[in-house]
Amino acid sequence: MTKKPNILIVYTGGTIGMVKDYETGALRAFDFSQISNKIPELQQLNCTIETISFEEPIDSSNMNIDYYVDIAEIIARNYNEFDGFVVLTGSDTMSYISSAISFMFENLQKPVIFTGSQLPIGDLRTDAKENLITSVQIAASSDDGEPIIQEVGLYFEYKLYRANRTTKISAEQFEAFTSMNYPPLVESGVHLNFNYPLLLRLRGEEKELVFRKKLDNNIAVLKLFPGITEKVVRSYLGIEGLRGLILETYGAGNAPTEKWFLEVLQEFIEKGVYVVNVTQCAGGSVILGHYETSSGLKELGVIDGKDITTETAVAKMMYLLGENLTKEQFKRYFELPLRGEIRE
Ligand code: ASP
Repeated sequence: MTKKPNILIVYTGGTIGMVKDYETGALRAFDFSQISNKIPELQQLNCTIETISFEEPIDSSNMNIDYYVDIAEIIARNYNEFDGFVVLTGSDTMSYISSAISFMFENLQKPVIFTGSQLPIGDLRTDAKENLITSVQIAASSDDGEPIIQEVGLYFEYKLYRANRTTKISAEQFEAFTSMNYPPLVESGVHLNFNYPLLLRLRGEEKELVFRKKLDNNIAVLKLFPGITEKVVRSYLGIEGLRGLILETYGAGNAPTEKWFLEVLQEFIEKGVYVVNVTQCAGGSVILGHYETSSGLKELGVIDGKDITTETAVAKMMYLLGENLTKEQFKRYFELPLRGEIRE
């Protein structure tokens, strides 16, 4: 008989770990080591489960790159002992966190599944149970003795997505996330349907896990809006130590062709700031140079964000800035899929 998969649940905070105090009506964090008491169904899964919890669980709005490193270190430290990982965070910034973790691990050959919930685990109508149980089940799924998922995923409301393709789209519906530019990796119905051709898998080749934890958050996001003034765009030039600017443009990567706008962008680039063009649209891709309104950006050497989400552009920028790359390497790596986060 083969050994049961061993899954580590990492609890960092967020709504999922809350219970309602029915006397006061307030939500409070509960002791996550007692998770099997709250969800006895977990004991029926064909795997063993251990839990580890942040000493002080936090709302995901308070997560910063130090916490990203803490999460990644827990995974790295336990990588050989466990067959899969389920990471519970608040959903608000889950797409940012999970994207960052996807870049920090190269040659990942085990599942790292992020999940959370819209209603606390102690609420009668909670979505936490299904999200957690199915995430554990996916993390424990294998074929030919190898984990089926060998990448960082995000599971919510019957779908597992590639984490670095997701965006939170609803503050109240159970279906809180979407992935407009990449289909779900797994759909949960009566059966778990794995979408095999879409998965990142290093089949058969055992490669050593590379863990990189240098992230640089000297970056900014600038969302264009009709009527944006030179004063506003120029003010970003004054940010001390700024190394990367994510420019959220319109449609297929379009921006004003006004002279002042292109001149300010040129000043960023001459200062050595990496400028990436990402679309404000929820789906679809930047096509640099497709319209006249983006050819100026292309000529300036702006990096093509293609179909990357803003969340993942933020994570990828922080990751690549930590890597000591030349200008050419930085642009090339940004425009290439490193973890399946961007089209070829
Ligand atoms: N504010 C919470 C958080 O992101 C919401 C949630 O857990 O879904 O931490």
